[in-house]
Amino acid sequence: MKLEKIISKIKNYDTIIIHRHVRPDPDAYGSQAGLKEMIIGSFPDKQVFIVGEEDPSLNFLARMDDISDDMYENALVIVCDTANAARICDRRYDLGAELIKIDHHPNVDMYGDLIWVDTSASSTSEMICDLYEYAKHDGFQMNNRVAMLLYAGIVGDTGRFLFPSTSQKTFQHAAELVAYDFDRPRLYDGIYNIKDHIARLRGYILQHFQLSTSGMSSIRLTCDKLAEFNVSAADSGQLIGVLGDIEGIKAWVFFIEEEDQIRVRLRSKGPVVNDIAAKYNGGGHPMAAGASVKTWDDTDEVVADLEKACLQYNG
Ligand code: AMP
Repeated sequence: MKLEKIISKIKNYDTIIIHRHVRPDPDAYGSQAGLKEMIIGSFPDKQVFIVGEEDPSLNFLARMDDISDDMYENALVIVCDTANAARICDRRYDLGAELIKIDHHPNVDMYGDLIWVDTSASSTSEMICDLYEYAKHDGFQMNNRVAMLLYAGIVGDTGRFLFPSTSQKTFQHAAELVAYDFDRPRLYDGIYNIKDHIARLRGYILQHFQLSTSGMSSIRLTCDKLAEFNVSAADSGQLIGVLGDIEGIKAWVFFIEEEDQIRVRLRSKGPVVNDIAAKYNGGGHPMAAGASVKTWDDTDEVVADLEKACLQYNG
């Protein structure tokens, strides 16, 4: 059993270093930092570190550790919430003695010595709750901070319990977590409060999106447009869900221009979009996926593919 093996590895190693994906989100931080705090809270003699480039908007959840390369010697490395090795943040992930992958995305890139992938889980944070449930009679302990981090990850990846990935188990875990003492309103503010200039960009998107008869929508955010609203490409990501409530929409795509590439962020309420992302060397979940392209002509191709998927979808 995967969980048993992972638990015994965690118990056997004195030093554990936890990574997650680039461009982190609350689930990446929540699962990574939640697992760290759970291990430290349960086994105070272990050294546990979390690494990766910080996203300042997530600093309220956790801060990353700054460690030297030699810490990897004889260390167990765990990568949370990261489907493919190319997206692991901090390239030192393979310097340790053993590597474990814990993730809920389709297992396209089977990196690691031990792989635990559960695509039925709403989030990797939910999987860390599963791990706790399994290991709680084996010395693993939950505390207020761990509960806050895992709850943040679940809330983030389920869109506040809205997305279809939200299962009975998700609610059961959430119910257990809210029994701990943490400030939920503060947590929601941290995840969902947006700056006024981002709110104005939301207004622009809602005024300018176009909806095709097939139920497909796309929006292009050029560097100029982002500069006009004084919003960074990264921060514009907070607005991806904004088109989801529009009646008749089946799938949508945001094209966000960065310095050297155009990010493609696909969302769906039915048509599968991760195969479209894969066509452009990206990946993700069936209903939320991403890729990067080089030119605006490429974005026309993505739009055509998404339009086709919407036309073929009978939902
Ligand atoms: P995002 O639009 O960045 O929130 O990503 C949505 C989903 O697609 C997440 O599960 C990401 O892990 C995945 N994803 C985004 N970009 C890529 C990429 N370039 N390659 C593989 N997966 C991606």
